[in-house]
Amino acid sequence: MAKRDYYEVLGLSRGASEAEIKKAYRRLARKLHPDVNPGDKAAQKRFQEVQEAYDVLKDEEKRRAYDRFGHAGPGGGFDPRTAGGAGFPPGGFPGAGGRGSPFEGIHFESGDFGDLFGNIFGGRRSSGPEPGEDLRGQIEVPFRDAVLGGTATLTLRREKPCPTCGGTGRTGKTVCATCRGEGVVASSERLPVRIPEGIENGGTFRVRGKGGPGVHGGPVGDLYVTVSVLPHAYFERHGNDIHGIVPITVKEAYTGAEIPVPTIRGVVTAKIPAGTQSRQRFRLRGKGVKAPGASSTGDHITSFGS
Ligand SMILES: [Zn+2]
Repeated sequence: MAKRDYYEVLGLSRGASEAEIKKAYRRLARKLHPDVNPGDKAAQKRFQEVQEAYDVLKDEEKRRAYDRFGHAGPGGGFDPRTAGGAGFPPGGFPGAGGRGSPFEGIHFESGDFGDLFGNIFGGRRSSGPEPGEDLRGQIEVPFRDAVLGGTATLTLRREKPCPTCGGTGRTGKTVCATCRGEGVVASSERLPVRIPEGIENGGTFRVRGKGGPGVHGGPVGDLYVTVSVLPHAYFERHGNDIHGIVPITVKEAYTGAEIPVPTIRGVVTAKIPAGTQSRQRFRLRGKGVKAPGASSTGDHITSFGS
C-alpha cells in the first residue's frame, strides 16, 4: 500500500502552522487511540499513521526534509515503530486541550503543558518505562508562611477522556452532550502542599509524584512550585534577617525604656538605653529566618524611630 501524504493523514494543507499540526494531531490521537477503540484494527492502523505523520511534521528539520523529498527523503525511513506507544495515562489526559491553567488562581508556564502532552502521545520510541513529565506552577504565599512554613491548597485542573463518549466526542451520530464534542472533560484535584520554612521569594519547592503520569510503568513526574512571597505590612526580609521599625517617643529615646518589639516569632521586650538615636538599630538574635538547609536562624533587626 502506498504511503499516504503526512499532511493528508492529519487533514492539513502544506502550509499548516505548528499549532494547527498539534491541534489536528491531538484531535485524531484522541479519536483513534487504541484505548478508545479496543480491538479495532483499522483505528489502530490509522493511529499509527497519525503518530508517524505527527512525528515528522512537528519536527522542523524532519518536516523540511519531508517537504522537499517526500517519503523517500534522504535519511528517510522514519522509524515506523513510533506507533502503538503510550496508552492513556492513568489519570487521563493531563491538560490535553490546553484550556487554561491546571492551577486555579495561580500562574502556569503553559509551554510545559504542550510538551507534556506531546511527550505522552508523540514520538515515544522506546517501549520501556519512562518517567512522567515534571510540571511547573507558581503560587503566592503570605510573608509569614514563607518564613515560618505553612500549608496551601493548589487546585490542579486536568482534562480526562470524556466518560460518556470515551473520548471520541460523539455518541452514535450525534455530538456528545457531556463534552460537547471535545472528547475531554475537566477534572480537578485539590492538593494540599507544605510550604517549606524559610523559602524566599522566587524559591521553588517540589511536590513528589504530582507531575505527569509515567509511561509503560515509569514513575510519575513531580510538580515544582515557585513561590512568590507577598509583602508584609511591617517586616522586610533581607537575606535571613528581618527588618522592622518600631516607633518610640522622644521621651523614651531620651530616658531609655522597655519597648515591646513585634517579630515574626512573637513579641520581644527590648530594653533601649537612654540616649537612643532615631533609626538606631538593635539586633534580636534568632528571631529572623531559618533558610531551608541552614543550621542557624537569622536575626530580627529593629530600628526605633521617634
Ligand atoms: Zn463526550
